[in-house]
Amino acid sequence: MELREIGNHVFACLQPDRGLGWSNSGLINSGGGLVVDTFWDLARTRQMIEQYERVWSGPPRRVANTHHNGDHCWGNQLFADAEIIGHRLCAEAFGKESPELMQSIRNSDDPALAGFAAGLQEYDFSGIELTPPTTLIEDRLDLELDGTPVELIYVGPAHTIGDVIVHLPQQRVVFAGDVLFRLCTPIGWEGTFANWSAALDRIIALDPEVVVPGHGPVCGLEGPREMKAYLEYVRAETEPHFHAGLSEIEAAKRIDLGPYAGWNEPERLIFNVARAYRELRGEAVDAPVDVMAMAGGMAELRRHWQA
Ligand SMILES: [Zn+2]
Repeated sequence: MELREIGNHVFACLQPDRGLGWSNSGLINSGGGLVVDTFWDLARTRQMIEQYERVWSGPPRRVANTHHNGDHCWGNQLFADAEIIGHRLCAEAFGKESPELMQSIRNSDDPALAGFAAGLQEYDFSGIELTPPTTLIEDRLDLELDGTPVELIYVGPAHTIGDVIVHLPQQRVVFAGDVLFRLCTPIGWEGTFANWSAALDRIIALDPEVVVPGHGPVCGLEGPREMKAYLEYVRAETEPHFHAGLSEIEAAKRIDLGPYAGWNEPERLIFNVARAYRELRGEAVDAPVDVMAMAGGMAELRRHWQA
């Protein structure tokens, strides 16, 4: 875990991307302090706080969640006196993921869950009390922290139903949450390919110098540009397989990832193929995702590529 100054009074707490849940956070260290996203469990979030304590004068007055996935908000309770800010739909979706369920998968000896469980061994989901946002965003929320303008902008549904990005126009920084995965394969929950591309275009239009992705290293505009190209490529490659009547996993096996094969966890492709299939079937943007089927699909893709 690394604390990096990325602008005047602006810091990122970065985790190396080692798979599921290795997310990033931010701190705007003025106007009482604003933390952008907490981490997946309490121990990780305490480590984050230790990093931020090196530079802040006291606990922040505000925490903003970019979306409701646990790896961005399950540490919220450690900011007990802070105002928690997020999109209205982020708050509504907060209970969709359960720390108890994640802990039971982590501790499961079901062979079908072995790959999923292995990725969770680094975490401890005990003791987490879901602490959703109570200050709710609709289209956007503008703050001014000791003269530093902060724009919280709704761009969903792209990665999830309630995606918010945090833009600092003075410092030319964007905290993208999971609208941007950098050098690792994106997973989409609620939303569409078109909305996700539009959200990436909105980041590009803000013309930031520094973009902090939800996962992976800090980047410039090449980050959102390359991810948009990935989404468009996977969507285009998937469609003929859908019309040919192939199953999702058979479609995924036939897609040549080319340069994207080097991104972390390329087997997450199955999530993106499944999203394309949901769209092509005309399903709603918040149609449920069968997580266990996706876990099985990822394991099958890994075996297929190794063979
Ligand atoms: Zn995430």
